[in-house]
Amino acid sequence: MRTPAGKECKYYYADYHRGRDTQACRLLERNPQGGAWKPSLCGKCPVPDILRQNACPHLALEAKVEKGFLGLTEKVGVYAVCAKKMVEVDKPAIGCGSCHEALNKLGA
Ligand code: SF4
Repeated sequence: MRTPAGKECKYYYADYHRGRDTQACRLLERNPQGGAWKPSLCGKCPVPDILRQNACPHLALEAKVEKGFLGLTEKVGVYAVCAKKMVEVDKPAIGCGSCHEALNKLGA
């Protein structure tokens, strides 16, 4: 679904059917410490680009609203792990690299 910022994000949810006016971020929602979502957070959120650049099915994301300088700004911070290798992924857009190594060994 397209976010208020205009990017595709599988975690964005909106329902305007029959007078409803519901918007949500399912990624922030599933983290109990995720914080409160608001539409403006989608504007600089790294998740849509991560999802577009890395389609690995083992990539697991967790998001949290983080305060900026003096608590005046907010942004979405992302923490990523490889659910297959159970390792932290520093660069979620690239991945942990273990699947690439396996493909290279197969000569793919
Ligand atoms: S805050 Fe990020 S993850 Fe959540 S709906 Fe917006 S773009 Fe998607």
